[in-house]
Amino acid sequence: MSELTRTADVVLVGAGIMSATLAALLKKLEPDWSITVIERLDAVGAESSSPWNNAGTGHAGLCEMNYTPAGPGGTIDVTKAVLINEQFQVTRQFWAYAVENGMLTDVRGVLNPVPHVSFVHGADRVDYLRRRHDALAGNPLFSGSELIDDPDEFARRLPFMAAKRDFSEPVALNWAPDGTDVDFGALSRQLIGYCVRNGTTALFGHEVRDLRRQPEGSWILTVGNRRSGQKYTLKARFVFVGAGGDALLLLQKSGIKEIRGFAGFPIGGRFLRSDNPALTTAHRAKVYGVPSPGAPPLGALHLDLRFVYGKPWLMFGPYPGWSPKFLKQGHFSDLARSLRRDNLLSLLGVGVTELTLLNYLIGQLRLSAPDRIGVLREFAPSATDSDWELTLAGQRVQVIRRDKHKGGVVEFNTTLVGAADGSIAGLLGGSPGASTAVPIMFEVLQSCFGHRYQSWLPALKEMVPSLGTNLSEEPALYDEVRSWTTKVLQLDSP
Ligand SMILES: Cc1cc2nc3c(=O)[nH]c(=O)nc-3n(C[C@H](O)[C@H](O)[C@H](O)COP(=O)(O)OP(=O)(O)OC[C@H]3O[C@@H](n4cnc5c(N)ncnc54)[C@H](O)[C@@H]3O)c2cc1C
Repeated sequence: MSELTRTADVVLVGAGIMSATLAALLKKLEPDWSITVIERLDAVGAESSSPWNNAGTGHAGLCEMNYTPAGPGGTIDVTKAVLINEQFQVTRQFWAYAVENGMLTDVRGVLNPVPHVSFVHGADRVDYLRRRHDALAGNPLFSGSELIDDPDEFARRLPFMAAKRDFSEPVALNWAPDGTDVDFGALSRQLIGYCVRNGTTALFGHEVRDLRRQPEGSWILTVGNRRSGQKYTLKARFVFVGAGGDALLLLQKSGIKEIRGFAGFPIGGRFLRSDNPALTTAHRAKVYGVPSPGAPPLGALHLDLRFVYGKPWLMFGPYPGWSPKFLKQGHFSDLARSLRRDNLLSLLGVGVTELTLLNYLIGQLRLSAPDRIGVLREFAPSATDSDWELTLAGQRVQVIRRDKHKGGVVEFNTTLVGAADGSIAGLLGGSPGASTAVPIMFEVLQSCFGHRYQSWLPALKEMVPSLGTNLSEEPALYDEVRSWTTKVLQLDSP
């Protein structure tokens, strides 16, 4: 075993969509900085960012009903849906800039226009969906959406879901034509490819095992080559822990005080998938149902048209699963290794207060293969089991944060945790996830490079012309941005 020492201005741990986005941004902003990406697997975007490990929804709040809860007196709270859409507009603009600047070379391999649809049945839910539609109708970001409650129109738009359906019960759809299907694995590969072509070092099959802060503020990382067993150290001025589910463990190893009290709870997922051409031509949308009681946000079932390596698929799920691993290709000891004196109370607190979530998960784990097809038939009554196979998706590690009153609370958002001096930051949690990689990485730039951020602003505004504004309140700017991104990202031609 030999000890080498290398140095870099910036080290990014993990080659998923988060590191890929940050690497691409930094490469544009500071082309002379030395950047090293370290990935334990042999490929870019092979964990949660792989198209088979997530649902590929470009989350924009268009169809996810958990973002629009019903409030008192028949009101609908649309705050979260608007926020998610605003974030996705930032993402879209950066992607369009990336296409125009040669960072994304095959946009169709990454992004496809697929309508986002909310689906409900039963009179109460139809009423909810109508109120949701009305509450969002005045916002330019949602203005193209249609409410459909006519069975014939339902059958015209969604033939697979209409076949053998009993329309005696009221049904409704909220149809948003601006939706997208995204291959976040292909996106990560293209962004990292651009960085490597421009001088970034990417090490595959290499794992960061430890991180130590130096007295002058830089970091020494211990890196192991998983094939040769060779170990070496790497010195960096800034470290981004883009290690997905493993971020909690690595931030704990770094010893920064900001990570104290955080714990993680892994929730896996499984999807049914089919490549039967008769089905993929009869279902041309991503259709989200109402989340079950107790289900985590984004636990709502959905039947999606997906494009993976250019081929159309239908995917249905997710059916939650459970494993103590923090990554799909992680270790069974991950959860146990994350337990610390400072987070045990947070985890126990959640065990006591989140009984509905636990009951929901246990119920889901008990589902048999016929049960799963039964659930699919609530969406597509004509579904036959021989068309579908079960696949294992990625792990989401839900963030558990210390809470004065309850001991701990589960958070379903993505949370940025970093040292106060800005020398290290990492991302916990997985929702809404990859779709918000761009605004989250802008947050990293602002919080970790505060002293440079002002000087970067002109370049950042070139990448995201609406930066600093709410497009909901700027309809003319929104129209301009929408037509630019739609054209460059080829979202006007299916
Ligand atoms: C079932 C499911 C459905 C989802 N659906 C959607 C969706 O529809 N839309 C959406 O926007 N988001 C979705 N998400 C969330 C999205 O997949 C994630 O937020 C996103 O992929 C996370 O990207 P990342 O770069 O942080 O992590 P990852 O893609 O997991 O990348 C982390 C990388 O770090 C590497 N790594 C870990 N530890 C080390 C180490 N010690 N040393 C070196 N490398 C290391 C891993 O091998 C991995 O490649 C979904 C997630 C799941 C699980």
